[in-house]
Amino acid sequence: MSGNRVAVVTGSNQGIGFATVKELCAKFEGSVYLTARNEERGLAAVEELKKLGLQPKFHQLDINDESSVLKLRDHLKDTYGGLDVLVNNAAILLPFKEGLPDEVFAEHAKTTMQTNYFDTQRVCKILFPILKPHARVVNLSSMLGHLTQITGEDSVAMGYELKAKLSSPDLTYEELDGLMKNFVDSAQKGEHAKYGWPATGYYTTYIVSKIGVSAMTRIQHRDFERDSREDIIINHVHPGYVNTQMSEYRGVLTIEKGAVAPSWLALLPPNVQEPKGLFVWCDKTIVDWVKGPMPPLD
Ligand code: NDP
Repeated sequence: MSGNRVAVVTGSNQGIGFATVKELCAKFEGSVYLTARNEERGLAAVEELKKLGLQPKFHQLDINDESSVLKLRDHLKDTYGGLDVLVNNAAILLPFKEGLPDEVFAEHAKTTMQTNYFDTQRVCKILFPILKPHARVVNLSSMLGHLTQITGEDSVAMGYELKAKLSSPDLTYEELDGLMKNFVDSAQKGEHAKYGWPATGYYTTYIVSKIGVSAMTRIQHRDFERDSREDIIINHVHPGYVNTQMSEYRGVLTIEKGAVAPSWLALLPPNVQEPKGLFVWCDKTIVDWVKGPMPPLD
C-alpha cells in the first residue's frame, strides 16, 4: 500500500505511546504523528526520537478538549485525505490511596471516566469518519479492563447482570454510556458496589473506565463490520505491566516491550482474518474478554 499514509498515537510524549511512535517510525510506511496535550513536552519527545535518526511529526492533541481533536482531524483531512492508523493510548490513572476521603474517590470516578472512556469515545467519533479503507485502530485497554474484574463483591446477582449487559453482542453506545454514568453517579454516594461494580479500592475507577473502553471496542468492531469502507480493523490490548509514570515505575516491562502488541496491531497487514474486535495480550495472544482466563503476568 502506498500513497500519503498517516498514523497517529494519542498521549505519546512519554511511556507506551512514545515507544509505539518509535516502533511505528521504524516500520510504518508513511508519516507518524507523536501527539501530546502539552506542546513543550511533545516537542521534547520528538527531539529525542530525532536523535535516534527517526522522523516523527508533531501535532498538539488534548483529548479532553474537543476543539483540539477537531483541529487534528482537519489537519489530517487536509494533508493526508484521512487517517490510516489510530492508537488510542492517552489515559490517566488516579490511584485511591489509603486514608483518602470518600469525596476524593467520587472525584476520581468522574475525572477518570471522562478522560479514559468519554473523551476517548469522542476522539473516535471525530476521527472514525476520516478513516481510510484498511485503517487500523488500537484501543489501549488493560488486564484491569478485562470483564472478569467484575466479581459482584457486594451483590453477586448485580455483578452477574452487569457482566451480561456489558458483554451483550447487542450492546449500544447509549446503553454503555448509561452504565458508565451509573458507576460515576453511584460512586458519588459510595453506592457503586451495590450495582455490581468493584468495591472502592486502589484501581477501581481505572478498572471501570477500562472495562468501558473494552466494551466500546466490541461495539466499534461491530460497526466496522458493517462499514462500507473496506477492511477497517479495531482491537483492544493489554500492553503488559510496563515501567511508566502510570505504573509509578513499578512495571516489569520496558516501554519498548509494552509497545510490541499495540504496534503489531497498528501494523496488521491488509485483509488479515484475525484479530478483529478482540482483546489481545502483550504477547500477541488472543484472550477471551468475557471468560478469560488471562495469562499470568511476567
Ligand atoms: P503514562 O502515564 O506513562 O503516559 C500516558 C500518556 O497519556 C502521557 O503522554 C500523558 O500526557 C497522556 N495523556 C493523559 N491525559 C491526556 C489527555 N487528556 N490528552 C492527551 N494526552 C493525555 O502511561 P502509560 O504509558 O503507562 O500508559 C499508556 C496506555 O497504556 C494507557 O492507556 C494505559 O491505561 C495503558 N496501560 C498501561 C499499563 C502499564 O503498566 N503502564 C498497563 C495496562 C494498560 P502527559 O505526559 O501530559 O501527562
